[in-house]
Amino acid sequence: MFISKLPNTGTNIFSTMSALALQHNAINLGQGFADYPMNQSLCNLVQKHMLLDKNQYAPMAGVPELRQAICNKTTRLYNKSFDIDHEITITPGGTYAIYTALTAIMQPGDEVIILEPAYDSYLANIEMNGGVAVLVPLNNPDFSVDWQKVKNAVTAKTKAIIVNTPHNPGSYIFSPHDWQSLTEIVSNTSIYIISDEVYEHIVLDGAQHESILRYPSLWDRCFAVFSFGKVFHNTGWKLGYCIAPKQLMNEYKKIHQFIAFTCNTPMQYAIAEFLQNENEYLQLPAFFQHKRDLFLNAMQDSGFTLYQKAAGSFFQTMGYQAISDRKDTDFTIWLAQEFKVATIPVSAFYKNGSNEKLVRFCFAKKDETLLAAAERLRKI
Ligand code: PMP
Ligand code: GLN
Repeated sequence: MFISKLPNTGTNIFSTMSALALQHNAINLGQGFADYPMNQSLCNLVQKHMLLDKNQYAPMAGVPELRQAICNKTTRLYNKSFDIDHEITITPGGTYAIYTALTAIMQPGDEVIILEPAYDSYLANIEMNGGVAVLVPLNNPDFSVDWQKVKNAVTAKTKAIIVNTPHNPGSYIFSPHDWQSLTEIVSNTSIYIISDEVYEHIVLDGAQHESILRYPSLWDRCFAVFSFGKVFHNTGWKLGYCIAPKQLMNEYKKIHQFIAFTCNTPMQYAIAEFLQNENEYLQLPAFFQHKRDLFLNAMQDSGFTLYQKAAGSFFQTMGYQAISDRKDTDFTIWLAQEFKVATIPVSAFYKNGSNEKLVRFCFAKKDETLLAAAERLRKI
């Protein structure tokens, strides 16, 4: 008999809902990706580097020009420089970086704390490594963290805590107080922190992104994870990176060299060059704030309930209990079939589901897509 590593796992919700959107010809506000084109000059740079024959394996950690460009960026934004030879690896996306970090540190039976709702790969990655996910619920309705609950969840077996700011799907963003509370919990322990910051540049309403890299007292224990897919509107490129102190990155690379080894070369050169123009990412808050507000404005007289405007990321959650008492998985299927709008049920971000009657809308879409979706959603 075949023994599955993930016996209770099916196809993930993002693939499922995108397939449903295609099947029903629905507007897809489900899976998080842009429906507008990425910057063509970045495409041109890829072509340029391909024609310059940058087409062989890149170094295992990534091309030095890109590692240096990232270091310049973290120094400017988070006042944190690092050793580009030993403290960074370019990865095929953020999801991969999280998996690799967990695989580098975990032994069977280890506990890893995750804050629910949580990006679905965390739970699977912990289980694939023979570990146990310890689930701590985030606060209702703003998805802030109850640090006392996190503290209570720590045991002698806790190997790591995964945090995510800006948060998917809850859109909560960490404040310095959050990092302070986490620091108090982990100081005098050997707990690692995996900080998922793939939405680092999507922080709205004038707030600033609080990267773990700003907090020197957490550096020795951190894996900070980023993704270019969210920054340059090209999720299909699957490129990201992980920054960690030398001793941790050394273990990380031992794993990386035997699963991906390296990432595609011309795109790395292209992004390294493109990163010189910091405006490309500094304008993202204004760009996405416009989209969030356009969508929320158009949803104002809908039956959906807004509990909290998205503070970060490109996701907005809303309640639907005024419309239906179905469970959210059924509700989202019905929505895609009958009203031709695909969304994500928030219960998919919990190991054991939830009854909160919330759906997640992705607003990384053309204005006309958002308006057309809202028009359909207002009819319910
Ligand atoms: N973390 C979170 C919270 C995400 O939403 C995503 C999704 N795109 C990722 C990590 C990873 O993204 P990717 O692997 O596409 O870089
Ligand atoms: N992170 C993306 C989302 O939340 C999807 C990633 C994926 O499809 N695995 O929509």
